[in-house]
Amino acid sequence: MDESADIARAVVKTTCPYCGTGCGVDVTVDGDHAKVAGDKEHPTNYGRLCVKGTALGDTVVAQGRLLYPQIRDADGVMVRRSWDEALDHVAARLQGIVDEHGRDAIAWYVSGQLLTEDYYVANKLVKGFVGTANIDTNSRLCMSSAVAGHKRAFGEDIVPVSYDDLELADLIVLVGSNTAWCHPILFQRIVREKERRPEMKIVVIDPRRTATTEMADLHLPLRAGADVRLFNGLLTYLNQHGIVDTAFIERSTSGLKEALDAAEAGGADVRAVAEQCGLDAGQLAEFYRLFAVTERVVTCFSMGVNQSSAGTDKVNAIINCHLLSGRIGKPGAGPFSLTGQPNAMGGREVGGLSNMLAAHMDLESAADRDTVQTFWSSPAIADKPGLKAVDLFDAIDEGRIKAVWIMATNPVVSLPDADKVKRALARCELVIVSDVIEKTDTTAFAHVLLPAQGWGEKDGTVTNSERCISRQRAFVAPLGEARADWWMLAEVARRWGFAAQFAYQDASDIFDEHARLSAWRNDGSRYFDIGGLAGLGTAGYDALQPVRWPVTASVEAAALQAFADGRYYHTDGRARFIATPPRAPVNPVDDEYPLVLNTGRVRDHWHTMTRTGLSATLASHIAEPYVDLHAQDALLSGVSDGTLARVSTRWGSLVARVKISGEMPRGTLFVPIHWNAQYASDARVGGLVNPVVDPVSGEPEFKHTPAKVEAFTVAWHGFVLSRDALPMETHSWWTRVTGAQFNRYELAGRDTDADWPNLARAALGANSNADWLEYEDRSAGLYRAALLVDERIEACIFVSQRSDLPSRAWLSGLFAKDVLSEPDRIGLLVGEPLEAAEDQGPTVCSCWGVGRNRIIDGIRKHGLTTVAALGEKLQCGTNCGSCVPELKVLLAQSRVAA
Ligand code: SF4
Repeated sequence: MDESADIARAVVKTTCPYCGTGCGVDVTVDGDHAKVAGDKEHPTNYGRLCVKGTALGDTVVAQGRLLYPQIRDADGVMVRRSWDEALDHVAARLQGIVDEHGRDAIAWYVSGQLLTEDYYVANKLVKGFVGTANIDTNSRLCMSSAVAGHKRAFGEDIVPVSYDDLELADLIVLVGSNTAWCHPILFQRIVREKERRPEMKIVVIDPRRTATTEMADLHLPLRAGADVRLFNGLLTYLNQHGIVDTAFIERSTSGLKEALDAAEAGGADVRAVAEQCGLDAGQLAEFYRLFAVTERVVTCFSMGVNQSSAGTDKVNAIINCHLLSGRIGKPGAGPFSLTGQPNAMGGREVGGLSNMLAAHMDLESAADRDTVQTFWSSPAIADKPGLKAVDLFDAIDEGRIKAVWIMATNPVVSLPDADKVKRALARCELVIVSDVIEKTDTTAFAHVLLPAQGWGEKDGTVTNSERCISRQRAFVAPLGEARADWWMLAEVARRWGFAAQFAYQDASDIFDEHARLSAWRNDGSRYFDIGGLAGLGTAGYDALQPVRWPVTASVEAAALQAFADGRYYHTDGRARFIATPPRAPVNPVDDEYPLVLNTGRVRDHWHTMTRTGLSATLASHIAEPYVDLHAQDALLSGVSDGTLARVSTRWGSLVARVKISGEMPRGTLFVPIHWNAQYASDARVGGLVNPVVDPVSGEPEFKHTPAKVEAFTVAWHGFVLSRDALPMETHSWWTRVTGAQFNRYELAGRDTDADWPNLARAALGANSNADWLEYEDRSAGLYRAALLVDERIEACIFVSQRSDLPSRAWLSGLFAKDVLSEPDRIGLLVGEPLEAAEDQGPTVCSCWGVGRNRIIDGIRKHGLTTVAALGEKLQCGTNCGSCVPELKVLLAQSRVAA
């Protein structure tokens, strides 16, 4: 019996690879399908999964995988090579560049998708053996402002709150966080607690109305970028009203006067603060009052705080309020950074950012460098911070960095000013990409491609937002020649003569070294200490249960509240108030670009869709890239709901479907981050985002780029459903959506004289065994065709000069049939089903495939008034619960309509 067969039969406990909530997952492999369920014993989710987690099984497929190493030849063609050839090439080329240009001429750009063990080896190799700190991570784009804020306030990057604290809090403040969509299981924990204790209050501070705000007692739609002003106002208010923990401040903090002076400089009057924040003064005063009268307050913050040119100050403005009121280091109280990625926290533990060192040590401290270098027995150690993400790609563009190894991330999509990133990679002498997927916007620029193991194949650990370390365990054998990221790095190290320092047999060896380093020369000087997890051995590591750090050699210290003893990790043992004078966003709107572009996630997709894009279930919620804006801004811009629009900034432009959701305040736009060249012709929002960064953290300003919107006028609309993926170059605008048994392409074009029969045959393929059903009415600008093989539909295309095309839901159903009936065939030619079929409308509940129209119909027909009643009648909302906020909105809208 071989090892892969053993893996295939087992039920494996692992961790969801998406958001920083870090849910436990039980996987059972059944044939070639991975069945996924929530892990009932995991302390994060207790058996629940959101819709993305529930659909994880759809993504464990061979489709699109990078299967073997490849090197680009002299003609620019990628050629398959053995691992030895590829790694020899990588080691020799990198060494050659270092010899000629110095160690700072090579760089790594890694990812919060890496497991802690991969992350640890990458940082050890680069900082300790290459001797440069030019290794940064896509976590720079996500939570580096939180890291910088924690370090400024606490002396170490420590998240002082756990998920349990959310259930102990009497007031939860959610700032710049659409928690309902971006951390759904965490949000469900909050909602359940609110249902249990209705007196618990939820305040959401966000310019947008979102699924999260629907559950709030109070929503403060502040002006974009005004967060520091709002929390400075709170600091002043608390001070004025005597909500000051004097004993704690005297014993455990410093810097209060400077912070108060800076806060009061902007005006101490609530009405003035409200005006500056664009808020109703009464509502702002109510928030300040709630904070003041509630002992147990947790303030959760996420990308709306971090992704800003004042991100670090925003974090510290929040922390200042908790320090002043003493609402920290106690159950149910404290500031809580919600991390975006599954292992952003693990990356922080190993010094994943270019200005950090392993085990929470400081790159700029000679003592810390000596500790790490001695422990690693390394020949050299970086002695100055490396380049942060945006600067790193600027250095590539300018030729200062000659080689970059990109691991598990897609910077051509995700970085700001992403067209510049494209240009930089096109100019770079050597681009190495290790990834799971062969064709991404970034792998297109690779000179060397290295196949990495995917979720389900990898073995290691991740750490979630509340510092809980969980095992990610392999449950399928690696596809093709995919290998662990740490193995590739260790093999390069071996070729450079460092075999002894990288002699890992498996991930448990690396974790053991990581745990020992955290405890070495620590003696309580660093809160991050997992020395108690050293020496587990392979069996102990395999059996490791979720555990929050610190775990010292003698005790699981995390059982105690962080900072409960009033001790912080600056050299004087005190926390610091930080003065945070408010700053406006660097690029203000103007007459040419009068709107503020905000970017973020949608409920059912993750990052650049390399995984979620494979799932028909997940694709059904929001199928297309869109731009959401206020109805009046739409009117002034000459666009309307459902049409196409061009969104432009000084850095780039895209085309997306207009959505007027009613959730956007005047003067702002929202565009999702997910779509890229693999899924749409022209929807990569990273190309539009200004490359401005926070001066302390280097985190880019993803939430505030001046922009404008214009109509994108087209001559025709169309769509294709096809069992096979199709080339789309001939159409001026397209987007691809994964269906259950087909690919769907939404199309639009500006050419007025398209030869549809020819284009359809070119696009759908000339199959001599195929039957063509075809209808054209040139005067009406209509064309339809379907391709049938052995009575089964293979593809169909519908084009019209008008946008009222047939229901995709009806046509999708035909792909489930082995043989089309006569009425089906006639329906294809007529362009509508002969028998009326229900049009469910856009999907709301992805788990059970329940659409908006059906829900509204159900509410009306059956007089349903609660989510529970909807679930009983239609099943929606009864599985993962991710759609519950949307169901509540539909119920509320129906009440208003009635
Ligand atoms: Fe995964 Fe959803 Fe849990 Fe996040 S909330 S870890 S996406 S299951």
